[in-house]
Formats: sequence, structure tokens, C-alpha cells
Amino acid sequence: MSIAEDNLVRIREQVQGHLDRTTQARLAPAAEQQLIDQIKTRLKKENAVIVAHYYTSPEVQALAESSGGCVSDSLEMARFGRDHSAETLVVAGVRFMGETAKILTPDKRVLMPTLEATCSLDLGCPADEFVEFCDAHPDREVVVYANTSAAVKARADWVVTSSIALDVVEHLSDQGKKIIWAPDRHLGSYVQRETGADMLMWDGACIVHEEFKARGILDLKQVHPDAAVLVHPESPASVIDLADHVGSTTQIIKAAQSLPNKTLIVATDHGIFYQLQKSAPDKQFIIAPTAGQGATCRSCANCPWMAMNELESLARVFDRDDNEVIVDAELGVAAMKPLNRMLAFAQELRKGVVGRA
Ligand code: SF4
Repeated sequence: MSIAEDNLVRIREQVQGHLDRTTQARLAPAAEQQLIDQIKTRLKKENAVIVAHYYTSPEVQALAESSGGCVSDSLEMARFGRDHSAETLVVAGVRFMGETAKILTPDKRVLMPTLEATCSLDLGCPADEFVEFCDAHPDREVVVYANTSAAVKARADWVVTSSIALDVVEHLSDQGKKIIWAPDRHLGSYVQRETGADMLMWDGACIVHEEFKARGILDLKQVHPDAAVLVHPESPASVIDLADHVGSTTQIIKAAQSLPNKTLIVATDHGIFYQLQKSAPDKQFIIAPTAGQGATCRSCANCPWMAMNELESLARVFDRDDNEVIVDAELGVAAMKPLNRMLAFAQELRKGVVGRA
């Protein structure tokens, strides 16, 4: 068994353990509203704001929006958290997002519903092994995906999210630079194919996206021949090859609005459907299949760690003593450099100073 497979087995066991402990019955509407009011009151009292990811539940996204917080992809979450005046950021997402918020704003208190909410990409890229890998290839620029620990970011020259990975890698490749890419091998392969860059890949994967199946999408296309296929680039190449649009979560939402198709097959976490439905209410969205023939579940496109951000855990977020995100100060300073480089690059991109033609 390879290290990657071994990691995957360990990760799946961990996920199952999380699910067994955290799966809860849905609240009755009155109880849910009471909880929402309670959280809003507490947010005000604590001068806090919720920074949530698109993959969290519809209830959590609605709460973040209606309480002055943000719902977005990890790039915009980082920017929003950094620029907001709140003293406390409540990050509803996974741990690397909380760490990123803390690195960018070390003076703010950063809380999460639970620090157990992690990510298979982060877990699959241990810092000591990664540093060794980088040290063995000193001639390469180190580009890491945001889904990594503070220690991995601290070893990187650049941090990227899926929304600017292509632009950053192309920018580096144009300067003749060779690249180490970590940790997502599917996103890395996609970026390599699109840019032609010289990239050495770490062997990590997202347990949600790598389950999408090309066969299932082709079957769906038979039933919905006019549907467009929207794919997140953490998916396998065989799925990306079927896409009408490949992009980050934000880019998928924009594509859903702008494409003429009335039906869209979506290969990313199901949590995004809340925003998709809001931004294009007249369209039909279908989750891409993840399971093979004979499986009981046709699509399991739900990140188990994102699902840990329930309303109940948000209601307790200020009362626990084990959920504040702490980043070692020295690591934080080192990790801030590639993160700030990404944010500055994103700003230049918006102004049209850099980026793909
Ligand atoms: S969906 Fe995948 S990449 Fe995103 S947090 Fe979950 S495991 Fe990580």
C-alpha cells in the first residue's frame, strides 16, 4: 500500500469517527430560530463576525449573511477576515481557514465551532515530510494550496486558492520558474495541463472531489442532454474532461449565472447549492454522481468536516475553552509572507495588472 493509500485509509476511518459522533437530527423550525437569535445576540456582544465557507450548511450560510458576516471561498474569506473591524472572527469552515485568518490577523481572536474540522488535503501533507521534499528540490518555487497547515505554508513561496492557482502558476512559469506543487494532485495536474508549467506534485487528494465519477456524469447527460457540467478542479481529470466550465466555487457560481443552460450538473460539495439556487433561481441544479453501480448512495458530495459547523456548535462557540485557533508566532510570521503575496496578487489581478490574457 502506498503512503497516499495508507493516508486515505486513515483519513476515512477518522471521517467515520467524526460522523458517528456528530450526526444530529435537524432542529424544529422554532428551535432553530431561537438558536439563530441567540447566536446573533452573542455575536454583537462579543464584537464578532462569522466568516463561512460555501460548503457549510444552508442554515449556517444564511446566518452568516444575515448577521453581517461573509459566505465565500477561502480566498475571499481570508480577505474579509483580515479587513473586517470585528475583534473576533468565528470561522465556519475547516481548520486551515481558521489558521489562515489567525495568520493574517494575529491580533484578532479566531474561534471555530470545533478544531476537529480538518481537511484530507491538510492531513495528507505533514509538514516534516513536505519540508524534506522541498529541501530535496531547492531549485523549485514552492506553491501550496490554501488547504494546508500553517507549518506547510511557512515553507512555501506562494499560497494559492483554486480561484487564482492558474494565474499564479502561469505568472511563475512565464518567468521560467520550476514549481513544487502541493498537496492536491488533481488540481495540480489540471493547472499543469492548462499552463504547461514544470510542476513536481505532492500526492494528496480531497476525499469529496476525488469521488466524482465520469461514468455517472455521462449517464446523467443522457437523461439531461442540454445540461452543462460545472466542475471543481480538485476532481479527477476524467471528470474535468467532461466539464463545460472548470473553476473555484465562486467561479462555478458565476458560470451558473452566465451560462445559457437551464440545467446544470455540479461536481463540487453539495453545500454550494444554497448559493447556486439563490444566484440562479430559475435553473435546475443536479449534484454529480459520486458512487459506482450498485451503491446505496448516488452522491456523497458532502465534506464531513464542513458538516461539523452546525448551528448548535456555533451557539457554543464563545463558551468553550478548546476551540480558539492558535498559531505559533514564528510560524505565523513565516506563513504570512506567501499568504500576503497571494492577496496582493489577487488585488493586482482584479486591477488587470497581472493575470491570464
Ligand atoms: S471538501 Fe475536500 S478540500 Fe474542501 S475541506 Fe473538505 S476535504 Fe478539504
